[in-house]
Amino acid sequence: MKITAVRTKVYEWKGDVVPPRAHFSGSAMDLLPHKKESMASFRFHSWLVVELETDEGLIGLGNCALAPRIAKEIIDLYLAPLVIGEDPFDNEYLWQKMYRATIAWGRKGIGMAAISAVDIAIWDLKGKHCKLPVFKLLGGQTKNALRCYASKLYANDNLDEFLKEAKGYFDEGFTAMKLRIGYGPSDGPEGVRRNIEQIKALRELAGPDVDIMVECYMGWTLEYAKHILPKIARYDLRWVEEPVIPDDISGYSELKAMNLCPIAGGEHEYTLQGFKDLIERKAIDVIQYDTNRVGGITVAQKINNLAEAYQIPVIPHSGMMHNYQVCMATTASPISEFFPVYGVEVGNELFYYIFEGDPIPERGFITLDDTKPGLGVSLSDKYLDKFRIIE
Ligand code: MG
Repeated sequence: MKITAVRTKVYEWKGDVVPPRAHFSGSAMDLLPHKKESMASFRFHSWLVVELETDEGLIGLGNCALAPRIAKEIIDLYLAPLVIGEDPFDNEYLWQKMYRATIAWGRKGIGMAAISAVDIAIWDLKGKHCKLPVFKLLGGQTKNALRCYASKLYANDNLDEFLKEAKGYFDEGFTAMKLRIGYGPSDGPEGVRRNIEQIKALRELAGPDVDIMVECYMGWTLEYAKHILPKIARYDLRWVEEPVIPDDISGYSELKAMNLCPIAGGEHEYTLQGFKDLIERKAIDVIQYDTNRVGGITVAQKINNLAEAYQIPVIPHSGMMHNYQVCMATTASPISEFFPVYGVEVGNELFYYIFEGDPIPERGFITLDDTKPGLGVSLSDKYLDKFRIIE
């Protein structure tokens, strides 16, 4: 089998969006003035899709969502010529070729997201050629179903509304959920109190047997995190996510060494080397790469093996098929993220509007259909009139 064509499309949402609430989540911009803009930076309403066509007439689908217009240019200009004419079953060679050819500028961030999209499409092709789901090519089924956590619950000063949303997830059968933290260092002691108030209220609603996770989205500083962790540790959090910016690895290590709350991170880290560094520096208790950023399925599988050896759980960012497939094939992954299907708000929801076939949990568990070859998703034509598509 040979790859004969590479096509890229950017899907830009032009339909209705759910307006953001004040302080619905922190972000790395919170340290700066202009709060309004800091919330805007947390929303992204476009996605990149790559299609690889083969001489057998198969089409492999890949995707990434970081700066999709730039990812499109990178694939069109730099990566497509490297994979055309090649056999998708040489995925390791192709990954190394894409990585090494772009290493001067592509190692982390958008360059690696573009490589990830192509690599995911390559694995989709491998599965489609073999008529097997991707997880069967990675080691197969290691669990009956994927336990999922509900990942939305944006911070809300109206506690009644906040708890009503949480209760909805319990009613759907979820036994784990993640809330967003609304306040950071620039919000002073009142912000600290409000953050704690929401965590406390959720724990009281949930009782002792539910996993509660806290998402900071890089919105804290090390000093702030050290101040607040002792105050929230009593609520038995399964993890505190991205408390500081991803480049502050020693900050992560310091917070982990406090041994108060497990520290999760990695959704903004890239490649096997990136996770080797995080593990060696004892920076994280939970590995959260996203397959469509970290380097694709080729890299995700290597990190899973590394994580298994170090006994660090892998709970990828975002769920979605490119992550569920790798979670199913490793014992290192005990639970998966699931973004509830919802109106277009932050942007994660777009996946459900662009693709068909992403599984929805039942009573908190996802099963993967082992008769669906490849990734198991296809492009949807249901919402095409709501998108501007740049080809
Ligand atoms: Mg996160």
